[in-house]
Order: sequence, then structure tokens, then C-alpha cells
Amino acid sequence: MGNSKKDLKPKVKKVPLKGMMDNVMEQFNSAANHINLHPNIRKILSITNNEILVNFPVKMDNGDVEVFTGYRVQHNGALGPYKGGLRYHATVDLDAARALAMWMTWKTSLAGLPYGGAKGGIKIDPALYSESELERITRRFTYALADNIGPEHDIPAPDVNTNSQTMAWIADTYMSSRPPAQRSANQHVVTGKPDGSGGLEGRDRATGFGVYLTIKFWADNNDMDLNGKKFIVQGFGNVGYWASHFLEKDGAKLVGVQDAQGGIENQDGLNVEALFKYNHENKGTIINYPDCSPVEKSEFFAIDCDICIPAALGNQITKKNASKIKAKLIAEGANGPTNVEGENILLERGIVIIPDILCNSGGVIGSYYEWLQNRSGEIWHLEEVLDKLRKKLKVSFDKVHDYSESEGVDMRTAAFCIAIKRIEKAYIQRGIFP
Ligand code: NAD
Repeated sequence: MGNSKKDLKPKVKKVPLKGMMDNVMEQFNSAANHINLHPNIRKILSITNNEILVNFPVKMDNGDVEVFTGYRVQHNGALGPYKGGLRYHATVDLDAARALAMWMTWKTSLAGLPYGGAKGGIKIDPALYSESELERITRRFTYALADNIGPEHDIPAPDVNTNSQTMAWIADTYMSSRPPAQRSANQHVVTGKPDGSGGLEGRDRATGFGVYLTIKFWADNNDMDLNGKKFIVQGFGNVGYWASHFLEKDGAKLVGVQDAQGGIENQDGLNVEALFKYNHENKGTIINYPDCSPVEKSEFFAIDCDICIPAALGNQITKKNASKIKAKLIAEGANGPTNVEGENILLERGIVIIPDILCNSGGVIGSYYEWLQNRSGEIWHLEEVLDKLRKKLKVSFDKVHDYSESEGVDMRTAAFCIAIKRIEKAYIQRGIFP
């Protein structure tokens, strides 16, 4: 008797958030508190707009059919079409895609791009499939996503274990499923395509170049010469390799690398191009590279160095290893590599972190240039692209640096505050429909 409808609702036990979602929400809430974010906008940004889960069958080389699960999470589109990568990895699930999509919203906002944030992928270990199986998996995934992606709606890009070839298959499948007269107007449904198929010269190196640039900007502000400085890289894929390539050109010395198979160290320096060739010839791993010592997974971040670049997966720097880190500067090539507990230890120790949403934003800025070119039918050349990227990243870096100095906050909080304020402004200006 007398129970209100509310009382009759079954009590839902709150399950604590885990993993990367914990991180991104703590980072968001801390910045939102700092800027006193409007409570209504906080509600909107705390949750994702759309979450798409597709199960789709694919015929394997031996004739059997396997069913795969793919995801696309669209976090927020207040500033423009959703934008973010597609990852092929065993750790891909809805929660990971949500967290990564949120980071994309802050990243595109901070970079001043007309995009929202999204992320997705397939729960798969691509090493277990042949090239032609991966092509069929990618094409069928694209077909399953259907109009949930689109050149003016949601534009995927490469991420872990996907590359320009993957993007070419997606573009071709998406364009082939449009009426003939509309096909070429849909080329910008994905970015990170090969140059020759609508790709941007320099998109391959855009993220790693951006990682290098943010390190260089920080070093210049702090009168630090990169020449002779030692750095380590976790993940020697697209981001890790290109960041190493540009740092080595400036005289810095790569002394440790870890990939999914293991780690190596050589305090005299590893030649980046030789290691890249070795990695290419050894099925994408650097293990057993000559003249170095193997490094245990738990000891990798303890390697003696000045700069540490996590460029693999999320949640790698945690309370387990943060106190062992020797570097003075962490440049987050990966998305979400440092968890909140790890970060607190690093900040207490005076270690500076260039946060992911700034550090690796060269990739999405490059993607934006590719998208603009496809839309306008222009073709830009490498030097022009890298020059534009340098100028744009300098603007973002200076904004974050100045905010961090004037507000007395770390660079991550500064980057989040700037990004969230831009979205808040858009909501305040246009109101909430209806
Ligand atoms: P990639 O697939 O080219 O390379 C990933 C590398 O990480 C490989 O060397 C792999 O062996 C290594 N790795 C995987 N699991 C590992 C583990 N458990 N421990 C150590 N190393 C491991 O991927 P990528 O495109 O270079 O992306 C790397 C990171 O950068 C990801 O977090 C991604 O979200 C982020 N990122 C990528 C781009 C881009 O343009 N590609 C843009 C922004 C951010």
C-alpha cells in the first residue's frame, strides 16, 4: 500500500565501471568540476549517443562460416560528424569502444575540428586469419554497419591492427553499395586510405609526427635539446615507428622497444630504420633483434631513459609500474595508456605527461585534411600537409600549455577543460531540441 511507481521499480544493483571507462569518466568529471560545467551538459556528455553492435557471418578459406561481433559507438556529435578509428583486437568490446569514443570527442574538440567522437572495431585476433579472410571480414562488417557510417555522418579511420588497406576495403564496399552516380561522392566515408585511392600524402605518419612535434614543442619550452636524449617506445606499429623515426632525425636515441610479443633494450641505441625493416620481415615483431637484451614485460617502463612513449594499448601505466618510471616526460601516443592511479603517482613525482588527446591528435588532424581534400577534389603534397599539421598542432599545444600555466593544472586537465568548454558553448548557443 502507498508504494509510488518509483518504489515498485526493481532495484538495479550498480556495477562499478571498469578499465578504460573508469579513466575517461574520472578525467572528464575532474575537468568538468574545474570549469563548473553546466549540469545539463554534463548529463549529455556523460553518456554515448548511439551504440551499434553487429553480428555478421563470414565464409572462411576452408568453407566454414564464422560469426564475428563488431561495434561502433558514437559518443557525441555536437560539433560535427562522428570521427574515430576502427580497432581489430581481442580486447574490443562495448566498454572499450565507449571509452575510446569519448576520448575522440575531446580530441576533435581540442584540435578545433568540425567533428564529434566515435570508435569501434571487431573483437578478433587478426593474426589468426588470412589476408583474404580479413578482406571478407572487413567488407562484411562495413555492409553490416550500413548507413550507421557515412561521409557526412560517421567517418572511421585506422587504429590498432587496421591500416590503409583496411580503409581501402571499407571505402570500396561502402561506395559499391551506393547508386552509381553517388559513388565517388562517398570516398570520404573513411580516412587513412592509401594515397592513390583517395588517401592523403603523409596520413601514414601524421600521428607519429604529431607525437614527435608535441615532444619537440615541450622540449623547446623547457630549453631541452632532443639531441642525445634517450627514449623508449611501447608498440612499434604505425604510431610508435613514426614517432621514433622523427625523434631519431633530431638526434634522440631509441633505447627500448616493447611490442605484443616482448621487449628489447640497448642503451647504445637501436637504429630505427633497421628495426623497422626487421619488424617487417619478422611478422610484425621486434623480438630477437640482434645485439640487445630482452626485457621482461613488468620491467619495460623501468628502462633508463628521458622520454617514454606508450604507443600500444590503454591502461599500460598504472600504480604497478608508475613509481619505477625513469623518464621525465611521457608522451601518450596511445589512447588512454595511463590510468588515473598511475597518473597521480607520476604527477606527484614531477613527471610531465603530454596527454593523448593532444599528443596523438596529429592523426585525426591528418584525417581531417584527407576528408577536406576528398570533398573538394584537391590534392595536397607531403610538405604542405606536414606544414599545415605543424601549425595546427602548435596552436593546440600552446592553448593547453597556457591554460595549464594560468590555471595551475596539469596538461591533461587543461586539454580536457578546453575541449569540454568548446562543446558546452555549442550546446548553449543552439539549445536542446525540441
Ligand atoms: P598498430 O596496430 O600499427 O601497432 C600496435 C603496436 O602495439 C604493435 O607493435 C603491437 O605489437 C603493439 N602491442 C599490441 N599489444 C601490445 C601489448 N599488450 N604490449 C605491448 N605492445 C603491444 O597500432 P597503431 O595505429 O600504431 O596504434 C597504437 C596506439 O595509438 C593505439 O592506442 C591507437 O588507438 C593510438 N592511435 C593511433 C592512431 C593512428 O592514426 N593509427 C591515431 C591516434 C591514436
